[in-house]
Amino acid sequence: MNILILGGGGREHSLAWAVMQNPKCDKLIVAPGNAGIAQIAECASIDIMNPGLVATFAEENAIDFVIVGPEAPLEAGVADRLRAAGIPVFGPSAAAARLESSKSFTKAVCDAAGAPTAGYAHFTDHAAARDYVEDQGAPIVIKADGLAAGKGVVVAETVDQALAALDDMFGGAFGEAGAEVVIEEFMEGEEASFFVLCDGEDALPIGTAQDHKRVGEGDTGPNTGGMGAYSPAPVLTDAVAQKTMDEIVYPTLKEMARRGTPYQGVLYVGLMIRDGQPRLVEYNVRFGDPECQVLMMRLGAQAFDLMHAAAEGRLSECAVNWADDHAMTVVMAAKGYPGAYDKGSVIGGLEDCPADSFRMVFHAGTARERGQFIANGGRVLNVTARGASLREARERAYAMVDRIDWAQGFCRRDIGWRAL
Ligand code: ATP
Repeated sequence: MNILILGGGGREHSLAWAVMQNPKCDKLIVAPGNAGIAQIAECASIDIMNPGLVATFAEENAIDFVIVGPEAPLEAGVADRLRAAGIPVFGPSAAAARLESSKSFTKAVCDAAGAPTAGYAHFTDHAAARDYVEDQGAPIVIKADGLAAGKGVVVAETVDQALAALDDMFGGAFGEAGAEVVIEEFMEGEEASFFVLCDGEDALPIGTAQDHKRVGEGDTGPNTGGMGAYSPAPVLTDAVAQKTMDEIVYPTLKEMARRGTPYQGVLYVGLMIRDGQPRLVEYNVRFGDPECQVLMMRLGAQAFDLMHAAAEGRLSECAVNWADDHAMTVVMAAKGYPGAYDKGSVIGGLEDCPADSFRMVFHAGTARERGQFIANGGRVLNVTARGASLREARERAYAMVDRIDWAQGFCRRDIGWRAL
């Protein structure tokens, strides 16, 4: 089969790596890809936000199956357009992608489905929102309704912080995304992510993960896109996973189908778990980055078969072939990230890193100049390894980090500390 993957980060490198191991893959194109992906697949620089262009490109290249990595093309309707052109695609319609792009939509779906989540209220009026916060007290969570690149959520410890967040959001700090605000009850517990493939009707769990969002060791400092992740997440026991399927995932899928917008693709279920009870924090309509890297490392070639079955509505015939293993990814970022950082520094030692079914350096933000890899983003490399235990996965990952010669980069040295 000829396969097209849309995206160009570490997530897409790991997807490409898994797909390439499957003998059904004859040809793989990744758009736009990156310098690491270019080592294993053809890269094409097309505008993946343009549904018409993507569909034409897929037709011209005789593509049999498309995997969409990031959320933005899904919201732009790329999956709808491909399906209309008769090209099988892994990823939800724009209507179903609202599970990520609108927090108030997700809350309404949860209400209708009876899925446990934080109590909430939805406001378009600043004064009414202020009154509500003063009435509820703190801690309380203030969220801009639309997409704000992870920056539209304030977990306020005091009423004053909550009111200041409302001032920002209604004052236009997030543009359109802030003109509507969701105010949520603060949930206590431990966070973990649960990944489920969906074909509109059936669902198949494909793993759990936890990530480290803060830039500093001990989970301190500013938020980032993620500094590392590991799978499985110990807090997401089989019993919690089953409860999540029964109380959250299946009711949501049923409600989405009832609305005429069945969900197909991967559902990223962000959970808060307390005393064995999961509650939904958020849905994302794509794999997490860097969680995808640890899931792909564990699933390997079967990931392709499972995604293809989801796209064709055949998930009820599928099962995951689990190995009793663990995986970890350590993000190497450019010094300064998540603030200002320089691009263009040379990264050495990558050729000395092993690349096998236990160890891979996935590239996030790299480019190639005069035969050398250079840093081309904030998060640059995802050093990923698998082992019989989390400890073994971690030792393998950090052994690779130590081989990489990049003075302008840094990583956290404590990924997985909670689980270990
Ligand atoms: P992301 O970039 O992580 O996808 P997002 O903008 O979609 O973020 P959420 O996932 O809804 O926002 O919230 C971000 C973080 O804020 C959560 O991962 C969680 O740590 C915290 N959070 C959100 N809602 C609550 C809540 N009701 N109670 C406690 N913490 C919360």
